[in-house]
Amino acid sequence: MRVVELKKRFGPLEVIKGVSFTAKRGDVISILGSSGSGKSTLLRCLNFLEEPSEGEIWVGGRHINARSGIVAQREINALRCKLGMVFQGFNLWSHMTVLENMVEAPIHVRGIAKAEAWKRAEELLSKVGLADKRHAYPAHLSGGQQQRVAIARALAMEPEILLFDEPTSALDPELVGEVLKVIRSLADEGRTMLIVTHELGFARQVSNRIVFLHQGRVEEEGAPEAVFRNPASFRLKQFLSAQA
Ligand code: ADP
Ligand code: MG
Repeated sequence: MRVVELKKRFGPLEVIKGVSFTAKRGDVISILGSSGSGKSTLLRCLNFLEEPSEGEIWVGGRHINARSGIVAQREINALRCKLGMVFQGFNLWSHMTVLENMVEAPIHVRGIAKAEAWKRAEELLSKVGLADKRHAYPAHLSGGQQQRVAIARALAMEPEILLFDEPTSALDPELVGEVLKVIRSLADEGRTMLIVTHELGFARQVSNRIVFLHQGRVEEEGAPEAVFRNPASFRLKQFLSAQA
C-alpha cells in the first residue's frame, strides 16, 4: 500500500495535513501519537469510512485518487475488500452468534458459498482460540473474546492489509494480553498490518516500523529501536516520556 499526500478537512479544520507512507507486504507499522493527532481519521480515510479531501492511495494494484465526491462507490467497495478494520469497540452485531457475525460479510459482500464461509469461519475461530464459543452471542463473551472474534471476522474477508484502531484500549488490563497475542501471531504469519496503539512495548516488539503522528503530520518515522532509543523530534521525546 502506498499513500501519498493524504489530507482530510472537516470544514475549515484540517486534521490530516499531507500524510505519505508505504507499507510493503509483511510490514507491521505501528502508528503512534497523542490523542487528537489524527490517527483514527487517517485509518478511517484509508478505507473511506471518512472521505479523504485529497491524496492518492495505491493498494493491491488499484489506484485511487481520493478527492471528495469523485471516487465511485464501486472503487470504494473494492478498496474495502482489501482492507480489514478492527475497531476499539469490537462492533460485533449483538443479535448474531459469533459464527453468524463472521459469515455475514463473506456471504453477502464477497459472495462466498455458505458452506465454504462457515467452514472458513470455524477455522479462523480456532485460530483465535475460540472454537468453543461458535454459537455464543457477543454479550456472553468477555471484551477480550469479543475483540478476538472481531479480528477473526476481519480475517474472514481475506483482506490484504489489516487496520487496527487501538484494539486493546477498551479492554480491562487483564484482557489486553490475549488480544495482543493474536495480533502478534498474525505478524509472525507475515500479514501486513497498520496498528494504532498506545501499547508501546508491544509496538516496539511486533512492528518493523513506527510512524509518529503529530497534529496531522508524520513527525517522525523509522525502525522501532531507533525511534524508541533515540527519537529525533522533540515532540516524540515528549510523547515517549509522557507514556513511560
Ligand atoms: P486520534 O485518533 O489521534 O485521537 P482523531 O483522528 O480521532 O485523533 O481526531 C483528530 C482531530 O480531528 C481531532 O481534533 C478531532 O476532534 C477531529 N475530528 C475527528 N473526527 C471529526 C469529525 N467527524 N468532525 C470534526 N472533527 C473531527
Ligand atoms: Mg483515535
